[in-house]
Amino acid sequence: MRREQDELHHRGIGMTSQRTRERLIQRLYEEGLSNARVLEAIRRTPRHLFVDEALAHRAYEDTALPIGHNQTISQPYIVARMSELLLAAGPLDKVLEIGTGSGYQTAILAQLVERVFSVERIQSLQERAKERMSELNLRNVVFRWGDGWEGWPALAPYNGIIVTAAASEVPQALLDQLAPGGRLVIPVGADDMQQLLLIVREEQGFARHVLDAVRFVPLLNGPLV
Ligand code: SAH
Repeated sequence: MRREQDELHHRGIGMTSQRTRERLIQRLYEEGLSNARVLEAIRRTPRHLFVDEALAHRAYEDTALPIGHNQTISQPYIVARMSELLLAAGPLDKVLEIGTGSGYQTAILAQLVERVFSVERIQSLQERAKERMSELNLRNVVFRWGDGWEGWPALAPYNGIIVTAAASEVPQALLDQLAPGGRLVIPVGADDMQQLLLIVREEQGFARHVLDAVRFVPLLNGPLV
């Protein structure tokens, strides 16, 4: 039996029972998610700290929840799925994340890879995500307020890139910023019909795998807010 000391953080213990959280992990496992490191990171991460207090009691349901600004914290299943896809070929050093949002996916990645670089266009969401990262003592994350369509060229190349909003097409900048052998996981498509793509940079060109049907908020254009 695990003790609560294994947690990343102690605040809010009791708000959601350990049993509810274990049930989420069990459910993800039954749905075919089998990467033990990913499941362990989800088990250890207090998702209720990433949503408003009023929604905290729903934090361990396998569902997306609103985080303000018309955005959502991703569903645990999709967080686990995308993390698995990113890690499937072995450990990763540098990972670029587009769409920090609440910072929940960021916190999971921070426990699985060496360094995370996370870009968000809404400054207030980014500020709160930053605070959560320091509360959880996750120090290997760097944040940038910017437009994800451009990636983060100054620090490229990346061994992995994950996009947590749906793009109308694969941003060229992200392909350019992928290291050889690097993996890009991205939902692509219109509002109601998106596919999760895995794109791997090969010696010559890119291998493109079309995976699950998914539903994300859009990767937006336009000025930063
Ligand atoms: N992984 C996040 C998902 C947040 S929703 C979480 O679980 O909380 C998608 C996020 O992408 C939103 O925060 C939104 O503001 C951000 N986003 C949308 N378009 C963007 C763009 N062009 N550049 C950077 N971030 C963007």
